[in-house]
Amino acid sequence: MWYMIRPDSLAVLKDKKVRRSLNRYFKVMEGETPPKFKIARKLPVDYKEDLPTEKLWEIHHTSLEEYVKLESRIDSKTVRLEDLETPKKSFLDLKSTIARRILESCHFCSRRCGVNRLKGERGYCGCGSEILVSTIFAHMGEEPELVPSGTIFTLGCTLRCLHCQNWSISQWYERGVTYTPKDLAAEIDRLKREGCRNVNLVGGEPTPWLEQWLQTFKYVNADIPVVWNSNSYYSKETAELLAGFVDVYLLDFKYGSGDCAKRISDAPNYWDVCTRNHLEAFKYGELIIRVLVLPGHLECCVKEILEWIADNLGKEVRVNVMFQYRPEWRAHEVPELRRRLTRSEMDRAVELARKAGLTNFIT
Ligand code: SF4
Repeated sequence: MWYMIRPDSLAVLKDKKVRRSLNRYFKVMEGETPPKFKIARKLPVDYKEDLPTEKLWEIHHTSLEEYVKLESRIDSKTVRLEDLETPKKSFLDLKSTIARRILESCHFCSRRCGVNRLKGERGYCGCGSEILVSTIFAHMGEEPELVPSGTIFTLGCTLRCLHCQNWSISQWYERGVTYTPKDLAAEIDRLKREGCRNVNLVGGEPTPWLEQWLQTFKYVNADIPVVWNSNSYYSKETAELLAGFVDVYLLDFKYGSGDCAKRISDAPNYWDVCTRNHLEAFKYGELIIRVLVLPGHLECCVKEILEWIADNLGKEVRVNVMFQYRPEWRAHEVPELRRRLTRSEMDRAVELARKAGLTNFIT
């Protein structure tokens, strides 16, 4: 059984700090309240498919406010989800309609390539109009509160991290399998039946496939929390579409504000995009932040990241300070990335987390 492989995933259920920081996630997982996508499916929104995109966004802004109120009423048990009628058009439908428009001039991520993916054009990430999946399985290597995590690995990525550990899928060395929304929804229902605590959308990067994810969740029956496992380099429009859809934002915080992001991951403006998206995630959902410690990047990146997190997201936010780095793919092109971490670098990372005042971090 999975809890014999990961006994910490059982122990974490009684960890008060973790439960406080991921309070709603635990309630969804334990069947006390529904996942956000199910609430979004019950919120009626009146709009016509052919409205100008600007107008659709206006309706989305207003509907998001309505969504927040409805979620609060459902969580406090003032309203029962099952008593609500299924509307002709829902908040989730509106999100899908807007996402479809974005595909015509793609700006799901901060690169804003502007390509028409519905007409077969491809941008930086190489993603088209049909989702391509590498693998789907119960992942036992995630944070204890997520394990077993029903993980869907998709192809393509919006970054080009030279040390990528998933390079065979992020850079299209695999071909992947196409799924229709209904087929993918059936897989998600199966993951839940098989005991997964959540569905974990990852890649590569889940961002380019947001339209397909939103379509898929129209058909999911299971009450399963959605984990958005991302590099954090998505656009402000994507951030808004994620609000009221994603339960847990599992976000990488990769680099400080210097030029490391551009040099290693070809990610201009990473700091600004990443900090903005963490703040939005904190506003509309719950957060687990991953900080992969890179050799030689303690003072330029890790220190600044951990201090920013403590100052802006609070000291109790869940943080995973990760020591798993190993040179992969093209890491040899970056001199300091040709080796693993030293013991003193790991100790320094822990010291930095403590000095920043973080109280809910794991390594
Ligand atoms: S998701 Fe892909 S195509 Fe769209 S803006 Fe980003 S890199 Fe370009």
